[in-house]
Amino acid sequence: MITKQLIQSISELTPVDYGVYQIRLPLPFALDHINVYLIEDSDGWILVDTGIRSECSQSILKSIIDQLPKTKPLKAVLATHTHVDHIGAAGWICEKWQVPLWVTKSEYEGLQHFLGMDPKNDADLAKKLDNFYHSGGIPEAKYKQIIRGLLNFQKAFYPLPNEFVCLQEGAIKINNENWQIFINDGHTVAHASLYNPSRRILISGDQVLARISSNVSVRFNDDNGNPISTWISGLERLKLLPDTTLVLPAHEQSMTNLHERVDQLIEGYLENSEKILHYCQTPCTAEEMLRALFPRELSPLDHHLAYGETLAYINYQLAKKNIQKLGNESDIQLYKVVL
Ligand SMILES: [Zn+2]
Repeated sequence: MITKQLIQSISELTPVDYGVYQIRLPLPFALDHINVYLIEDSDGWILVDTGIRSECSQSILKSIIDQLPKTKPLKAVLATHTHVDHIGAAGWICEKWQVPLWVTKSEYEGLQHFLGMDPKNDADLAKKLDNFYHSGGIPEAKYKQIIRGLLNFQKAFYPLPNEFVCLQEGAIKINNENWQIFINDGHTVAHASLYNPSRRILISGDQVLARISSNVSVRFNDDNGNPISTWISGLERLKLLPDTTLVLPAHEQSMTNLHERVDQLIEGYLENSEKILHYCQTPCTAEEMLRALFPRELSPLDHHLAYGETLAYINYQLAKKNIQKLGNESDIQLYKVVL
């Protein structure tokens, strides 16, 4: 148990169910917070997600972790996925409290790969990155800015522990209760959500959010991928859970309308992918479609996210053979609707 005193002294800490606590940590982005969770196990506490590497966020975590009962300390960090707001501080926590990191293999390896990327000393990588953005029709000055911004993000992560405990799809026991781990591709390659069937609680990570929808992007090292399709399959799997499930997401408020929300999310992605067909009536580039889909001013990071998502809609429609790639005389790709 966490004492009443601790709950009263830390406003960010809220009990949500027996042995499950939410901690709201600040983020310096438009989305200004993340919800991470503490789950009580028989021999310690599991922290689900960590927030970013920042003094403010880390000091909140430290004051909570240090006040957990000596007989039942923190035992593990579980990362739902490897976006910076979910795992940025994991390396620090694992080292400071000597606990293991639980994460899926492809997420761990993907982030290690990203943290080791050094296009200045890897000509092939530099070319691949340039081509990824250039082929979509993004002007060079803009994509150079995007790439610089992305690499800057490497510093936002504490180095990961050298070892990790491999999280897999299936049942795990926590405090003698069954929890089901769902692994879904789409938002990232292997995003984990945790479901407790007897209590009907879903710690959804970024998979189901109450108001906003998660970014679903084609990645530069998998430019033929179809993440919208795998993302929708993942959402449909979660819709098999009871509608009365209490969904505890990584951002914003919890919800109890799982089925309705999953339907809304799927509809939103499908609507955007339909717009692609409209834009492609005449041959156009990914960047031109992006500008129509996201007409506001975009920061380099937002531009990167919008580009990946536009490519995701394009690849979804390519797979359905509703649009086609036009033979390109230049190295910028044009698309057109199939009549
Ligand atoms: Zn995320």
